[in-house]
Amino acid sequence: VAECYVGIDLGGTNIGWALVGQDKQIIRQDELKTEVAEGRDKVIGNIRTAVSRAIDGVNRGDIVGIGIGTPGPMSHKEGLIIKPGNLPCMENVHLRKIIRDEFNLPVTLENDANAAAFGEYWAGAGEGTKDLVMFTLGTGVGGGIIHDGKLVRGHFENGSELGHIIVKPGGRRCSCEQLGCLEAYSSASFMAERARELIAQGRQSSLAAFINPQDGAGIEAPHVVAAAQAGDPVATEVFNDACYYLAAACVTMQHCSNPQVIVLAGGMINAGEFLLSRIQQYFRSMTWRLMKDYPRIKFATLGDDAGVVGAAGCVWQAREANDW
Ligand SMILES: [Zn+2]
Repeated sequence: VAECYVGIDLGGTNIGWALVGQDKQIIRQDELKTEVAEGRDKVIGNIRTAVSRAIDGVNRGDIVGIGIGTPGPMSHKEGLIIKPGNLPCMENVHLRKIIRDEFNLPVTLENDANAAAFGEYWAGAGEGTKDLVMFTLGTGVGGGIIHDGKLVRGHFENGSELGHIIVKPGGRRCSCEQLGCLEAYSSASFMAERARELIAQGRQSSLAAFINPQDGAGIEAPHVVAAAQAGDPVATEVFNDACYYLAAACVTMQHCSNPQVIVLAGGMINAGEFLLSRIQQYFRSMTWRLMKDYPRIKFATLGDDAGVVGAAGCVWQAREANDW
């Protein structure tokens, strides 16, 4: 029997798990509830259950190890979850040791955004490359950098926080309190917020119909994308800015780590060619002409599986680099 890897994606709502084969294909997978409200012991018990289901019936000698993607901040070096916003009960949990002791298998702990980027590098849109940058465009903007086949974590292990690249000094205040972060323009939450603000300033928009008069909420990023496609001026401004600033961040990353491919992931990529062509167009208009070191900008291919496949890929990587 060929060797296999266990990938766990620990999230605030669900724990995804997969058993991944040597060919990088998922052998089996499922998810269970995290049950954050039940507290630490329950969550750790559910992670144990996820691992048990993944390895059920598999010869122990064929399992290379267990990879766990967890929300940050966390420490790969220490195997420690530090202070995850959506998993408050898991603060300061040495999860690597707990799972290693339980299953007597090597365990690697990785930031979930890094794990997803590693998944696309190892088995998705970046397969066959050595240098990749990924932007995940969701409620916030996440990221991952693979340089020469290795994840970039940095000295403080906060590397690859690409949503907090400043694209407009002195610009909008981000959730991190910096001014002008990429996330403050190109995330779903900020796109919706900007549309609401422009309408509150008196701009005419078809998006006004979504606003709940009680609390002013109601506009979501997909509404903005659809309205931009229909030519609504407010939605077009917000959507174009999201693409423009993301393209600027792509140029920044081109000059930082010089990737062969820049992968875009997350809910926003449902906007398809409408999104991709605009980002590529802005990128071409902004990047230098000095060299032709242009990365290919493309969409992720693993979808929701990037987390578990990436966590499994981190096991492969940890064994390659002897970095458990
Ligand atoms: Zn920020």
